Amino acid sequence: MKTLILGAGYAGLAVATKMKPHPGLEALLVEQNAFHTFETRLHEAAAHNTRVTLPLAPLLRGTGVELEQASVEGVNLDEREVTLKDGRVLTYDTLVVGLGSVTNFYRIPGLAENASELKQLSDADEIFNFVNRAYSGEFKGVRDIVVGGAGLTGVELVTELAQRAELLSKARGLPPMNIYLVEAGPKILPVLDDALRGKAQRTLEDYGIHVMTGHRLMQATADTVTVQTPDEEQKIIPAGKIIWTGGIQARDILKGERLEKGPGGRVAVDDRLRAKGYPEVFVIGDMGLALNQEGKPVPTTAQHAGQQGRLTGKNIMRLAKGEDTEPYEPTTLGEFVSLGGLMAVGWMKLPWNQKLAITGGIAHVMKRASEWRWRASID
Ligand SMILES: Cc1cc2nc3c(=O)[nH]c(=O)nc-3n(C[C@H](O)[C@H](O)[C@H](O)COP(=O)(O)OP(=O)(O)OC[C@H]3O[C@@H](n4cnc5c(N)ncnc54)[C@H](O)[C@@H]3O)c2cc1C
Repeated sequence: MKTLILGAGYAGLAVATKMKPHPGLEALLVEQNAFHTFETRLHEAAAHNTRVTLPLAPLLRGTGVELEQASVEGVNLDEREVTLKDGRVLTYDTLVVGLGSVTNFYRIPGLAENASELKQLSDADEIFNFVNRAYSGEFKGVRDIVVGGAGLTGVELVTELAQRAELLSKARGLPPMNIYLVEAGPKILPVLDDALRGKAQRTLEDYGIHVMTGHRLMQATADTVTVQTPDEEQKIIPAGKIIWTGGIQARDILKGERLEKGPGGRVAVDDRLRAKGYPEVFVIGDMGLALNQEGKPVPTTAQHAGQQGRLTGKNIMRLAKGEDTEPYEPTTLGEFVSLGGLMAVGWMKLPWNQKLAITGGIAHVMKRASEWRWRASID
């Protein structure tokens, strides 16, 4: 059984590390980078240049999975062909697609051209370099940063940047930069309940971050953003750096006559995470539209991508051994949002569907614990 795994993110790497050598099973992991990126920690790399990658080769030892460092250009599900950027074509009996998501700029004029993203290591490096440059002696121009989107990524990024900026401002005796968090919706962090959101909001204000909920980003140029205020007036904010974290969509790389796509371009999958109409193709992580026990879309998170990957890895082993596969039953163990340094807010799941709200240092430890769990699961 010739198996191709596309992408070594939370989903694809979990598949590969759950596999074992088996007679007749041939597996290849195709990933553009020679490393796995802890995407959930990119905001730390953006602010502090923290190391957030792990080389892939050692993680694959003993799995029987070979690594091909290459970029996927397109996948033709009807022909069972994967075309690589270098022109080579790979074929498969079983395919796992975990190529993640891309930023959705919602066609806001000038945004895609002028805003940075926070999706990969090079984005984090770009932001880190800007902040350092902004606090260098010869910097001229606007130092302020506008971040669009007050979901998990936007909030984690602005709090970490605020800490870094304060440090640099004191160390180099330069005035602090303004950090604006622009959000069209009425509140930050819509995934959290009101008490936790209130705590997060106060922390942002303590950092001096300008939280602009109810402000719709209308346009961006190289050094400004135009927002529409809640009173429907237009306001221009000068910006040295614009970063958009306001939306994602599934990577659009699969082609197939019978393919079904849902919101955000996510590929509809069955209860084994196989693309509808293509039982030999598993689509997992941010690209797949898996449903939970209530029939609602499973959130696009690392936590769920990892769960889907681990199940898919085990199911491929079961298929290779001629055994029945197991269905996907998602669980959300908790959600934590880091608020810079040792601060975080979130909740963890208790028995009988109860949630325990946690804030401060303990929430930070819980968030770190989920990252350690992930690290341990791929070793
Ligand atoms: C700053 C930030 C903070 C976040 N915080 C959290 C959090 O606290 N908790 C949480 O659960 N989730 C969090 N998320 C969301 C989480 O990171 C994603 O849901 C998760 O990464 C999705 O996993 P995936 O495997 O589907 O995709 P990814 O992890 O994005 O992996 C996709 C892989 O495919 C590779 N790839 C892409 N295109 C190609 C190509 N053409 N050819 C070859 N390889 C390719 C990429 O290099 C990558 O390795 C955060 C995201 C961000 C950006």
